[in-house]
Amino acid sequence: MQTKLVILVLLSLGAAVAVAQSRKTLDIYVIDVEGGNAVLFVTPSGESMLIDSGNAGAGAVRDAERILAAAKDAGVTSIDHLITTHYHGDHIGGLAELSARISIKELIDHGPNTQPNPNTDAFLQGAYRELYSKTKHTVAKPGDKIPIAGVDWRVVTSATEVIKTPLQGKAAPNPYCGTFTPQTGVNLTEDDQSLGSFITFGKFRTIHLGDLTLNRQFDLMCPNNRLGTVDLLIAARHGNVNAEFLAHALRPRVIVTNNGTRKGAQPEAMKIFFSAPNLEDVWQLHFSQLGGQEYTVAGMFIANVVDEQQDTIPVAPFTPAPQGQQAPPPPEHDGKAVTNTRNGFSKTYRRPPASN
Ligand SMILES: [Zn+2]
Repeated sequence: MQTKLVILVLLSLGAAVAVAQSRKTLDIYVIDVEGGNAVLFVTPSGESMLIDSGNAGAGAVRDAERILAAAKDAGVTSIDHLITTHYHGDHIGGLAELSARISIKELIDHGPNTQPNPNTDAFLQGAYRELYSKTKHTVAKPGDKIPIAGVDWRVVTSATEVIKTPLQGKAAPNPYCGTFTPQTGVNLTEDDQSLGSFITFGKFRTIHLGDLTLNRQFDLMCPNNRLGTVDLLIAARHGNVNAEFLAHALRPRVIVTNNGTRKGAQPEAMKIFFSAPNLEDVWQLHFSQLGGQEYTVAGMFIANVVDEQQDTIPVAPFTPAPQGQQAPPPPEHDGKAVTNTRNGFSKTYRRPPASN
């Protein structure tokens, strides 16, 4: 089974009854690519941005099909922009299969591969180059804005560099920096190169940093917080290692971990997420066997259960409200809703974000 988390961000009060064919939301699909990454954003005007394209190898066709299903669900027929955060197989692996199925109009990345790998380099110098030679290729630097109508899409990290100027107003000292000592003498990997995005839609803010390492997250967030706060933190590194100086300082109301059954969402990171000062909920893309029962959330908030579900523990489906006269009125369009497509459970986050 494959399910995803769909996050609908509604910009303003607007009409209580949605008008057919006129999208008012920024829709974010956190697509299950089994421990890889693929997050699709679709703006009110229908413009689409995909961050990463899932796994390589045996998973490539599966993940490309899942991304395609999300695109179809969102009503988009092409990918207008595709960010590859970095060139690891769980982030760029499905691209060849995806590009065979849907047209991609712009490829955005951090620049050359820094972690030589025969398969990756052959792909980048062959099929990838050929793809963007026919469309558009953008190498993004921190501070760059990616033009997308209705959304402020800012690059905050790329190729080990981080944004130097605050996104809004003045940078404030980050009180969570003191306990971390950056590792020295470590080999830089493609994770360090991750192209990170900070996305603003009306008053809604979210961040996606790919697999940015703690050292680079520290560069980004310390000693001063140049980003401010977010409503939604799409956890970096599949929710494996994270630190207070990011997850607490950004004061997210909601955290989504794009983890797999045996990858990410493990105890140390979950403890940090659960103790985040402004947090309302964590949603997980999978139940994590690394976190086990102790460090997980209620099943309603988990998009995919363990792969080999035992027959003796049935998972009851969540029955949506009936349609027609007996149905309750539709929710007012003044909040941000997260929906679990496995069980239909949805939660709307209505109250205004806490003041910074
Ligand atoms: Zn990864």
